[in-house]
Amino acid sequence: MSSPRVDVDGVSVSPDHYINGERIASSRTFEDRSPLDWTWKLADVARASSVEADLAVSAAEATFPAWAALSIEERGAYLDRLAELIDRDVEQIAHVECLDMAMLEESLKLRGIARGARNFRACAELARNYEPRRWSSNGTANTVLRMPAGPTVVITPWNAPFMLSTWKCAPALAAGNTVILKPAEWSPLSCSMLMDLVDEAEFPPGIFNVVQGFGNEVGAALVGDPRVRRISFTGSPETGRSIGQAAAKNLVPFTAELGGKGPFIVFADADLDAAAEKAAVMYDDGGQVCLAGTRLLVEASIRDTFVERFEVAAKRHVLGDSRESETTISPLIHPEHLARVDGFVKRAVVNGDTVVFGGERLKRNGLWYEPTLIEPKSNDSEIVQREVFGPVLTLQSFADETEAVELANSTAYGLSAIIYTSSEARAERLGALLRAGTIWVNCFLVRDLTAPFGGTGISGIGREGGDYALDFYSDLKTLQIKEGTTRG
Ligand code: NAD
Repeated sequence: MSSPRVDVDGVSVSPDHYINGERIASSRTFEDRSPLDWTWKLADVARASSVEADLAVSAAEATFPAWAALSIEERGAYLDRLAELIDRDVEQIAHVECLDMAMLEESLKLRGIARGARNFRACAELARNYEPRRWSSNGTANTVLRMPAGPTVVITPWNAPFMLSTWKCAPALAAGNTVILKPAEWSPLSCSMLMDLVDEAEFPPGIFNVVQGFGNEVGAALVGDPRVRRISFTGSPETGRSIGQAAAKNLVPFTAELGGKGPFIVFADADLDAAAEKAAVMYDDGGQVCLAGTRLLVEASIRDTFVERFEVAAKRHVLGDSRESETTISPLIHPEHLARVDGFVKRAVVNGDTVVFGGERLKRNGLWYEPTLIEPKSNDSEIVQREVFGPVLTLQSFADETEAVELANSTAYGLSAIIYTSSEARAERLGALLRAGTIWVNCFLVRDLTAPFGGTGISGIGREGGDYALDFYSDLKTLQIKEGTTRG
């Protein structure tokens, strides 16, 4: 049985799961509120238990053989159709996701939601263009083939839910797997809207399912189900560990894209204005971006000049309603998260770290936190070593390249790094030495969907993106035919 659809500021959204091609309610619900105004309840969303997890995995298991048997062209046609529908509805989805998690609406329209369509299109295209590796050896002709792996569970975090979910579901579906997506409980609505489009694109029932609810309830039930053959997770290292244990128990390959504490390294030879402007971008979306370079590492000789310019750029930010185009910093997702971010800053002060600017929640109602810069007492300070996931950066200086690399590599994370320098040779030297999954030089967030993406250390396990993702969602096999075997 389904619940009535909800009017979310003029957009009709289902608060239910989408399992086996049908909207299904649960006996329990959870409240979904808007970070733009915490008194605004957007919906009572279905709260799944292990019962709905079982229904979804059963549906995905039952339909897997038929989906896997389709040709790549046939599966790709579904993905392309879905991409077209996402493009058509970008504005509505962006509006609801903005209300639900407070990312800037303009940026969601131009990038986040539009990227969802690109994710499906790019994966369909890649699957179609797959050129298996072929070679001869030991008197046999060898070919590497991809075999769809089976029902796949995708678990995603509350930041950028639509983009991050489609990033994982698209290659899984293109590879011939069926999918059960569990979005985060703090921003569940845009993924529900995606299921309306899956329905409209006439995906066969059971191929692509969404269950809503809490991680320790339905999330744990899904990743513990032995019928699941792939698990793809994005979220915190703590949850990644727990999902990794569930995956190990059933010997299921899993990828984990986890937190980050990226260095933002500025050398004296860099374009300092460009570096300062880009460093201030790390506060966008309230700093709730895993890839952000949150540790500013600045060559000692230009420290004061850089900080001056950076402060000017940072203070140009406008904290406000994410629907308005002049806003550049959105509120944080949830009161609990605001308290967590504030807790990091308060503990830093007690630790003897220096707040250069910011350091307070905005003194009006709402979940905004000031752009904050902290100069730590030492590299061991918690504020340097742990991900805050808010608009809080740290500032340290270095004497030379060797010290820059040492500091950059000195946390347990290894998701991303940003370097500002005018020297390509230096960029290449650091590129080889930095421990990170993605390294940007004189730019940030430039993404090629065919590049491998993931983290080292506690920032993750495995790589997704392009053929790396299609390989992960497949079982690779080698076909060896003895040379001289006749055709026909
Ligand atoms: P989280 O780990 O608390 O939750 C992520 C998801 O896991 C949610 O859907 C949650 O319900 C689910 N979950 C929780 N416990 C579970 C369990 N035992 N079994 C199965 N599922 C469970 O993370 P969050 O607070 O939603 O997201 C913020 C984190 O995500 C940050 O650390 C951030 O850096 C990280 N992140 C990483 C990337 C990346 O690409 N590396 C991208 C975005 C966010």
